[in-house]
Amino acid sequence: MSNKKNISIFWHRRDLRLHDNAGAYNALKSDFPVLPLFIFDKNILDKLDNKEDARVHFIYKNIQKLQTQLTDMGSSLLVKYGQPLEIWKEILDDYEVKEVYTNRDYEPYAQERDKSVYELLKEKDISFKGAKDQVIFDKNEVTKDDGKPYTVYTPYSRKWRAALTDDHLKSYPNNDCFNNYLKTKPLPLPTLSDMGFKLSEADFPDKEFDEDIIEQYAERRNFPGIQSTTRLGVHLRFGTISIRQLAAYAKEHSDTFLNELIWRDFYHMILYHFPHVEDNAFRAKYDTIPWVNNEAHFKAWCEGKTGYPMVDAGMRELNETGFMHNRVRMVVASFLTKHLLTDWRWGEAYFAEKLLDFDLAANNGGWQWAAGSGCDAAPYFRVFNPTSQFDKFDKDRTYVNTWVPEWETAEYPKPIVEHKFARQRAIDTYKEALSNWQEAQS
Ligand code: FAD
Repeated sequence: MSNKKNISIFWHRRDLRLHDNAGAYNALKSDFPVLPLFIFDKNILDKLDNKEDARVHFIYKNIQKLQTQLTDMGSSLLVKYGQPLEIWKEILDDYEVKEVYTNRDYEPYAQERDKSVYELLKEKDISFKGAKDQVIFDKNEVTKDDGKPYTVYTPYSRKWRAALTDDHLKSYPNNDCFNNYLKTKPLPLPTLSDMGFKLSEADFPDKEFDEDIIEQYAERRNFPGIQSTTRLGVHLRFGTISIRQLAAYAKEHSDTFLNELIWRDFYHMILYHFPHVEDNAFRAKYDTIPWVNNEAHFKAWCEGKTGYPMVDAGMRELNETGFMHNRVRMVVASFLTKHLLTDWRWGEAYFAEKLLDFDLAANNGGWQWAAGSGCDAAPYFRVFNPTSQFDKFDKDRTYVNTWVPEWETAEYPKPIVEHKFARQRAIDTYKEALSNWQEAQS
């Protein structure tokens, strides 16, 4: 008979916090002491070319923080590096695991990974229980009256609001059961260099949100020249803050801000129900658009050298800081897909590489919205005018002067495409492809 102690495991993924954590709370309420786990997933890390990736650094910093909090309680985080299924096999050899808890993740890769872990655990009669933690409503909690998922935001958001009760926003009192963490000596952490990574130079935004920003959000959010949005994206992405805490604050103080959090739920729900969007247009006919995909133009876009100041300011801000304001994300995405007729997947992949707050559901949703191919997208004939966007949202030029100081000098490049021409070309190209598709269907 094994003399190992029976334990539960709580597996942290997009929820790098001990407080108000649904799955961790369920684990701590279980019959066995809880060993918390984090796996640096080789399948994900191997795909990152930049070995100073700031997101990896961010995760690492927060893992160290969790480790300190847990060792202060006489417990420890178990941190592994490898392929999740292989790591789980090791863990099952090393520990007498009775139950496993986690928070649900809706991305296609995560779903597949969790299915394989579930099957491994099932063979050994170990339960694997998921909780809803990273969104307010998930899966089928907000659907049309016939039970089908919404594909349009406005009716979804109405139903979302109608379904919301105080219970959905209540924090889980994890700290009441911290004494159920497994008592153990501190377990060693792999180093970043063990995993082939280095510290990055990035500055990470603070997770203490500025209440004034939320209170003035409706009036100020569209102006990239001022600090008008919270920059909490990276914290929501990795769960270093709780969505319940933020949504509860939003509900009391800013309806417009709450709307953005509902968009976040919406895109997670879309990705869960329509996983084909990861690689394909939500609406199939948009996959027939004959993209020009000019590599020199794409390079100019990436480097912020298109000759359109607002587009260039956005791309340079992204390249330098890992952040770009939402209004500018819309402008640069529209410019790439419509003015340059470049496949939205190219832009999506570039954002995925650079954004600190990169999130597959929101990024894919944002790109497909801009390209017109998404579930509730901008109509194809609406082409943002990058110059009037600049005049409207950066009137005093603060934003562009910060990122493109030479924009009014002879050093600044001439526009790589002429607006009127590019706009008409986009409309004609989309129109023709969509009507050819329609004809082929009939
Ligand atoms: P705030 O304005 O302070 O909003 C708070 C939070 O609400 C955000 O952090 C985010 O979690 C959520 N949110 C706000 N707007 C949206 C939205 N339109 N859709 C979904 N969630 C939203 N958001 C990401 O989190 N990750 C991405 O990879 C991402 N890629 C995008 C790509 C494109 C082309 C576009 C147009 C938008 C993208 N967005 C993405 C949505 C939005 O631009 C960012 O969430 C926002 O700019 C982040 O800044 P913030 O944290 O200051 O947001």
